[in-house]
Amino acid sequence: MIIFGTRGVKSTIKSGDFHCPQCQNSRPYRHRKVTKFFTLYFIPLIPLGSAGEYVECGSCKGTFIPRVLENHPEKKEEFMAVYEQAIKHSMVLIMLADGEIDENEMNQVLAIFNKFGNKEIDLAELSDYVKQVEQEKEDVTTYLKKVAGYLNEHGKETVIKCGLSVAAADGHVDDSELEMIIEMGKALDMTALHVKGIINEMHPGS
Ligand SMILES: [Zn+2]
Repeated sequence: MIIFGTRGVKSTIKSGDFHCPQCQNSRPYRHRKVTKFFTLYFIPLIPLGSAGEYVECGSCKGTFIPRVLENHPEKKEEFMAVYEQAIKHSMVLIMLADGEIDENEMNQVLAIFNKFGNKEIDLAELSDYVKQVEQEKEDVTTYLKKVAGYLNEHGKETVIKCGLSVAAADGHVDDSELEMIIEMGKALDMTALHVKGIINEMHPGS
């Protein structure tokens, strides 16, 4: 059996100090580049092009778009960590997937976001965001493929944990929900084993 696939390989382009919007302080950073490789037996062989660049804070591990390096402290809203945007966006897409949104669901998503994120949002902000996302008509895996290159391991794991928490919000995680979580992991260039590890950690025995 021949085992092949793709994998993102990270390298550091530059490092130094920057103003981290999340820590709200001067912190060391690494400017990272992700190159997608074709792998054979898990060995990266052929580069398939760039999968994105991001800036990682050495202290909080938050990831930001590279433009954060030109940042001025007063612009911190615009530079909300990429993983926070990703968890907010993917949870809303999961919530929209079954067509209906009730207030109960909204409150659960809000609680999950405020538990995993560093930035608090309120129900009105989330409602505005849902309207915005509704117009784009994108599915969660298409969206995650786009942002995968901007997330570090910590960010990816947090996205999966939040997805799981939304799936478990009705009291149990069923097979179709688990399948969706594994698909989300795939879109993020995570191995099924890695995703299953997170699922087992959060829901032993599922
Ligand atoms: Zn930071």
